[in-house]
Amino acid sequence: MIIKLAFICMAIFGFAAGSSAKSGSLQTDTLASNNGNLEMTFVGHGSLMFKCQDKIIHIDPVSREGDYSKLPKADLILVTHEHGDHLDTDLIEQLRKPGTVIIVSASCANRVPGAIIMKNGDNRDVLGMNIKAVPAYNIIHMRSENNPYHPKGNGNGYIIRCGDKNIYVAGDTENTPEMKALTHIDVAFLPMNLPYTMTPEMVADAAKAFKPAILYPYHYGNTDTQKLLELLKSEKQIEVRIRDLQ
Ligand code: ZN
Ligand code: ZN
Repeated sequence: MIIKLAFICMAIFGFAAGSSAKSGSLQTDTLASNNGNLEMTFVGHGSLMFKCQDKIIHIDPVSREGDYSKLPKADLILVTHEHGDHLDTDLIEQLRKPGTVIIVSASCANRVPGAIIMKNGDNRDVLGMNIKAVPAYNIIHMRSENNPYHPKGNGNGYIIRCGDKNIYVAGDTENTPEMKALTHIDVAFLPMNLPYTMTPEMVADAAKAFKPAILYPYHYGNTDTQKLLELLKSEKQIEVRIRDLQ
């Protein structure tokens, strides 16, 4: 009975695949690329830390999502948009060091000294990696009539090319035509908290369109991740991984 339970826990948390480890109190998944391992650490909500080609990348670092005093400083910081659960200017100052490259969306202009602004559709090489900015916006979910939670043009998702792997961190968005047209995405982080981002049905629709090999719902708040697993259970090419990214 105990063995069976342990097996079920391992299956649920993905330990059975041998891809997961704990880094401090935070969980890290590792993915092999043709230029060394990519490590993905799940801080919480929209906050992630990657290690790619020995460079530390903090994505939307926000102090209330985790204990950043235990995490390394950044070689690269990516900020998707200006909302308080994504842009924490004090923490950015703590995580930067001489030479840190900071990339922000158009809506964060003038908020972070020395930051590079990437507009929707921009593409640039930085620290031996390629970064693409994908539009992140609402189509259906509105704050009030004709006033989306995330207007088009303000925010970015980012595709980070790490070795031969493409990692897409979508930011706060819905299943836009630009997202659904993506190709060759190895790992996708798609937001699922409501009413600001996507329902499980929208996430499933996007995933069926661009078929990431690995899908992490993130920034999911109180949305039931089980629902997404149900919706995608017949999509054998997509591995859905649930991590602590509420
Ligand atoms: Zn937002
Ligand atoms: Zn958000």
